[in-house]
Amino acid sequence: MARRAKLPLLENITIERMAAEGKCVAHVDERAVFVPYTAPGDVVDIKVTKARKKFWEGKAITFHQYSPQRTEPFCSHFGICGGCKWQHIPYEQQLVYKQQQVIDQFERIGKIPFPEVEPIVPSGQTRYYRNKLEFAFSDQRWFTREEIASGEELDKRALGFHIPGSFEKILPIEHCHLQTDPSNDIRLVVDKYAKEHELPYYNMRQHTGVLRTLLIRTASTGELMVMVQFGRDADHAPEAIEGLLNHLREKFPMITSLQYVVNRKMNDTFHDLEPTLFAGRPYITEQMEDLRFQVSAQSFYQTNSEQAYQLYRITRDFAQLTGEEVVYDLYSGTGTIANFIASQAKQVIGVEYVEAATKDAEVNSQINNISNTAFFAGDMRKLLNPDFLEQHRQPDVIITDPPRVGMHADVVKQLLEIAAPRIVYVSCNPATQARDIALLHEKYRVEKLQPVDMFPHTHHVENVALLTLR
Ligand code: SAH
Repeated sequence: MARRAKLPLLENITIERMAAEGKCVAHVDERAVFVPYTAPGDVVDIKVTKARKKFWEGKAITFHQYSPQRTEPFCSHFGICGGCKWQHIPYEQQLVYKQQQVIDQFERIGKIPFPEVEPIVPSGQTRYYRNKLEFAFSDQRWFTREEIASGEELDKRALGFHIPGSFEKILPIEHCHLQTDPSNDIRLVVDKYAKEHELPYYNMRQHTGVLRTLLIRTASTGELMVMVQFGRDADHAPEAIEGLLNHLREKFPMITSLQYVVNRKMNDTFHDLEPTLFAGRPYITEQMEDLRFQVSAQSFYQTNSEQAYQLYRITRDFAQLTGEEVVYDLYSGTGTIANFIASQAKQVIGVEYVEAATKDAEVNSQINNISNTAFFAGDMRKLLNPDFLEQHRQPDVIITDPPRVGMHADVVKQLLEIAAPRIVYVSCNPATQARDIALLHEKYRVEKLQPVDMFPHTHHVENVALLTLR
C-alpha cells in the first residue's frame, strides 16, 4: 500500500479570487488550493491540511503581503471563531462577492437564460443584527497555542461557541458583535455565576455536567428571552437551576421570558422537549408592519428581523397579489410569509414538515385576526400530491422557501404538474435554487432575480427568484 504523502507547505502564493463557501482560491501547478480567512491579493505561505484528488485545502500560516482590499477585523475572536469569517473584507466588497455568487451559480449550475441579477439589498445593520444566539457550556475549553505555551494553570471551563470542526471544544466569547445588548452581559454574568458557584459545565463525550447551553432571543419590540438548557445531572441539583435563574431574574429585570429545560438526551437539540417557564411569558413577540408574531423557544424565526422584512416585502412584490389569488406557501415554517401576505390574497395554504411550526403559524394567524390561512403538516414530497390538489383550490401563485438542500426532484416535478402562473422561489442557497430552477425551466421563464444580504461578514446569501409560466 502506498504511504500517505506528507502534506506540502506552499510558499509565496498569491491568492487569486473568492470561491465557494467563503474561501479564497489560488493555484499551484494548476491545482486549486482553497484557503479561508484570506483575501484576493494576499501573498501567503499555505500549509496544506487536506489533499484531495483534484484540489487541496489549506491554511494561511504566514502573510508576506496583505491584499490592498483588506480591512481590519473588528472582533478579537476573528480567525478562531467560526462565526463572521469575512470580517477582513470590507462590507461593500462582501456584497460584490455575494452578487457574483448568485450569477455564478445560475451560470454554472442553472445553465438557463436569466435576466440581469438585481443589485443585492444590503443589510441595514452589519453588526448586532441577529435576534438569536445559542452558546454552549463545555469543560473542554479551546486553548490557543500561546495559552498552552504559557505553561500557566488554565481553567478548562468555557461558555461560548463551538470551534469549527470540533464537536466538544468551546471558544469562550468575551464580546460577540452579532446580538444586541444585553446579550453579552447575560452570557458573562451566567459564566461568572456558574464558576463562582462551581456548577459543573457539560462534558460532551461523557454527557456529564449540569450546564449545557444558553439561548438568548431578542426582538425588535424590546422583548427578551433567555433559556438555559441543563444536562441530566441537573436532576440531582434542583438548587442549581433555581439559584442561576433567580440570579438572572434579579440582574436582568428586562427579561420578559425566562425558561429552562432539562435535556437528558445525547444530542442538545430541544425542539422535541417542553421547556419550563420560570418567569414571564412562554414566548416573545416580533413585529412586522401591523402584524405581531409570537416566537417560542423552539420556533423558527428568521434571525435577522430587519432583513427578514426586506425579504418578505420582495416576496410579496414578486407575487403581485390583487386579493383574488390562492397562494401556496411551501416550507412555511411558522407561517411568517403566509401571514404577511394574507391580507392581499384570497387564501393562503401553508405546507410544512414540523407540526409544532404549523401550530405556531395558526396561532400567529389567530392573534392577527387572519382567517384566510390554513396550514398542513407533512413531508412536501408526500403531502403535495394530486389528492391534496383536488381537496384544495389550484394555486395562482406558489411561494416556495425550502431549506439549504433545496426541493426534492419529485416536488419540482409536482410543481411542473401544477403549473401555477407564478412561482416565487426564496432560497438561502443559490446553488440548489439554480439546480431546481433549471428543472422548472421546462415550463417557466426566470423573470427576476433579487439577492438579499441577511448575514453580513459571512458568505451566505439569500436570493428571491420570480418565475412565470411560459
Ligand atoms: N418560510 C419560513 C421558513 C422556511 S425554512 C420563514 O420564512 O420563516 C424551511 C422550512 O422547511 C423549515 O421550517 C423546515 O422545517 C421545512 N422543511 C424542511 N424539509 C421539509 C420537507 N421535506 N417537507 C416539508 N417541509 C420541510
